[in-house]
Amino acid sequence: NTWQQFNLSPSILEALEKLSYTAPTEVQEQVIPAIKAGHDLMAKAQTGSGKTAAYAIPISDKVVWEENKPQALIITPTRELADQVRLDALAIGRFKRLKAAALYGRQPFAKQKLELKQKTHIISGTPGRLLDHLEKGTLDPSILKYVIIDEADELFNRGFIEQVEAIMAFMPKERLTALFSATFSEEVESLAAKWLKTPERFEI
Ligand code: AMP
Repeated sequence: NTWQQFNLSPSILEALEKLSYTAPTEVQEQVIPAIKAGHDLMAKAQTGSGKTAAYAIPISDKVVWEENKPQALIITPTRELADQVRLDALAIGRFKRLKAAALYGRQPFAKQKLELKQKTHIISGTPGRLLDHLEKGTLDPSILKYVIIDEADELFNRGFIEQVEAIMAFMPKERLTALFSATFSEEVESLAAKWLKTPERFEI
């Protein structure tokens, strides 16, 4: 099991080598081909399984550097996870010179607004602030191709689901949606049923 099986571009493979990610983890083995093939998916994956890289690797591989609007949006329950996603995307996309931003509350909105005027390929953030930017028009969703709902069970636990639903209503019809969750509760299943198209299911 090597990275060679996924047909990743040389710049991404080089970054994985620099990170000393010598081989894909189980969740990466399953999720990377699905995203590369353009399938919606839901994956039961715990923190520590390598789930962040499981979507950050194929997204970083697929985003087009030349585009000026964001192409991937990752919705997270915590600021810490939003920051981690940003750092992982920057590390994996470093030789492609990818840009990533993390958006969450209790940070100046105006500063984020300026950041969003720059080229930013990948956005992570917590629901309230993401929705705020969408409603104010400072985050342009028009060419988002990858939407990740990360730690869906935690999004429910923290009472974010109405905001997540409102964010999803802004997303373009033509997109790939992936949901990650430590558990597939009934509420997680119904969220997936509403926003994912015949998802592949992975239980690791
Ligand atoms: P996560 O489950 O996304 O929180 O990742 C857990 C940790 O595993 C992070 O510190 C990652 O940097 C690391 N990691 C992710 N994928 C790999 C890999 N294929 N090989 C080694 N470490 C990895």
